[in-house]
Amino acid sequence: MHQPAWYSKNLRRIFFDMHLPDWTEPGQSGGRLDGLQNVATAFDPKAIVAEFVRARINVAVIFAKCQYGNFYYNTQIGHKHRGLGNLDLLGEIVEEAHRHNIRIVGYYSNMWDTQIARTHPEWMAQDANGQSSYDRWPSLCLNSPYRDLVHQHLHEMFSLYDLDGIWSDILSDLPCFCPRCQDLYRQATGEAMPRSPQKDGWIKMVRWQQEYLGDYIASCREVVKTLNPDAAFVINFFGTPYANPSQGLSFKHLPLSDFGSSEGYTEWHGLLFPSYAARYMRAGMLDRPFEILTGRFVHTWDFTVRPLAQMRFEAFSIVANGGAVCVDDEPYHDGRMEPLVFDHLENIFSAIEQREPYLHEAEPMPYAALYHSQKTREIDEVLNPPSPPKKLSLVPKSNVNASAADLLPSLMGSFKALIEAHLPVQMVDERPESLATLPRYRIVYLPNILTLSEVEADTLRQFVHNGGGLVATGATSLYDAMGQLRDNFLLADLFGVDAGPRGDYTFPYFEFAPGPLTTGLTGRPLPHYTAMWHVCPNTDAIKIAATRRNPLIETCGELYYHNNQPSPGPDTHEPAIVYREVGQGRVVYCAGLPESNYARLGHSPYRHLIANMIRWAAQAEPPVQVEGWLNTEIVPTRLADDLIVHLITGLPQRAVRFGFYHTADSIEEQARLSNIRLRIPTTTTRAWRVPHNEELPIERSGSAAWITLPSVGDWETVQLIDAVK
Ligand SMILES: [Zn+2]
Repeated sequence: MHQPAWYSKNLRRIFFDMHLPDWTEPGQSGGRLDGLQNVATAFDPKAIVAEFVRARINVAVIFAKCQYGNFYYNTQIGHKHRGLGNLDLLGEIVEEAHRHNIRIVGYYSNMWDTQIARTHPEWMAQDANGQSSYDRWPSLCLNSPYRDLVHQHLHEMFSLYDLDGIWSDILSDLPCFCPRCQDLYRQATGEAMPRSPQKDGWIKMVRWQQEYLGDYIASCREVVKTLNPDAAFVINFFGTPYANPSQGLSFKHLPLSDFGSSEGYTEWHGLLFPSYAARYMRAGMLDRPFEILTGRFVHTWDFTVRPLAQMRFEAFSIVANGGAVCVDDEPYHDGRMEPLVFDHLENIFSAIEQREPYLHEAEPMPYAALYHSQKTREIDEVLNPPSPPKKLSLVPKSNVNASAADLLPSLMGSFKALIEAHLPVQMVDERPESLATLPRYRIVYLPNILTLSEVEADTLRQFVHNGGGLVATGATSLYDAMGQLRDNFLLADLFGVDAGPRGDYTFPYFEFAPGPLTTGLTGRPLPHYTAMWHVCPNTDAIKIAATRRNPLIETCGELYYHNNQPSPGPDTHEPAIVYREVGQGRVVYCAGLPESNYARLGHSPYRHLIANMIRWAAQAEPPVQVEGWLNTEIVPTRLADDLIVHLITGLPQRAVRFGFYHTADSIEEQARLSNIRLRIPTTTTRAWRVPHNEELPIERSGSAAWITLPSVGDWETVQLIDAVK
């Protein structure tokens, strides 16, 4: 695929986010307003680009058509925002920005378009109840004639302007149950569309939608590429595990995106998310370039400005992990800009620019692969319907989730544990081209990955036989692709155990046995919220790292124990964690979900357990090791023979909790730590901090080497010369 250099080289980006109502159109206010109210009347393209230049921005997303359906250039076929008067905002910004070597990507809203929905109500999408709504953003059906109009819009944009790309948004508001889509579904399958995830055929419907969404995206891409093959066609990939699969986007759509893009707002998904999203998009894009969006706002689009310390933390988490940083900003209603945002961006982007020689071309050091599965995402939507707890006690219920699926806590709890344990992690998934990257890694972790195909299972077997490590938990491989329970784990041969039923006790305990997996763990029984799977050894060649202790009772009605959970009862001596050698490799199977427990409780033994399982199975230590410093993410990357190691530190403030709510994560002060001692590869010949090249002495003792960073700010970068020679 042709890939201009700026896709990967231009790391400093702004998303100039502005869905501006035009209240001269009665349809944009429900008929309640008819004046401009100064909206969009004071844009100054030269001043805008001057701020971009000051902030060292080298890519900007500028609106061509917003979610109201208003255009920001001199369109002949759509509705230009009247507040602009004669101003060709997009065109003038493109011209001015290009004079300063800033790339301009046009923004285009697909499914949401208030203006078109008012003029063509027959093109609107319908929800499962057959309703279309003008509340906030009305949604349009991608199988309607609207598709042809979109093509005309794209044709016009790329005929009129030398745009560097298009950022194609709102491709994630499926499913549509309009009569058109119902007919198409019946023609394709002979069945009626199921109306909820609990109805038969939901997964089939979700996969059918993915096909037509792919056709839609491909057809739009074709229009753009025909006019300008170098223009980047970019999908807003609202398809992380936080999105419902039925909203439409899946990894299978990413080949249509010239670089990956995903919203990584910490107010939506927490402070771990920018780093997670970066790795997720890298995996999704199969190592092609990507960007992650962060916000300037405390609460998305509320006109606040996030503290500089937090904006730095979010941006540095992304660039250290190989992504471009695209900061979401929004002008005031008339088009004036908030200068403090650009003060912050100048600070952040100057720091990034200084380290670009150590960021460009650097590749992550492979160690652990965290397994992701689109099919498991789809099954999770069916098995694990969202149901907020009816009342909160001080601690989670024992059966926090009665279903076998627990996608988000599984993935995010594993990720949190790996990051805090400083074990380098990237992601792989079930696509053949992604599975082909598996041999890079020492170990693959499958956190309750419910379904695996025969091909996936064979690939994993081969990986282990060739010396790889595999750690799997819970119901991994126990379901088929349509979400039906199998008789046994597809990987029972690797695990060394057969699947039995799920336990009756929703609050069992791990009882750890001495051995390599339990070194340094608590000797006390460790509680496990939710039932464990019962498993039975199918070979003598396994060792047991933990057995299951059931609680004295199962809490029920008038049978209870103190205020919370019953004490552990006698040991069942049934295996809860087993481990073994297979071929050249090693396998660990855990019948519980330590990662889900870690996501919910944050209790350190779960993290230590996960880290121990991974290190044992990997048969190797990561290239850089450090004890503690849980709030510091360590990212080792490889640049030729050197290791470039980033340390990103954010110290969040404490939260107030009330009911289901708590204060948003916030970071207000730039952290400064002292005397961080890193164990480094012994081949390292010299070490220094970059970009200022302050040399760090290397201590050597026997077969080990260390450096000590006397003082560490929120982003430290160390170059270890010859560390990977
Ligand atoms: Zn439809």
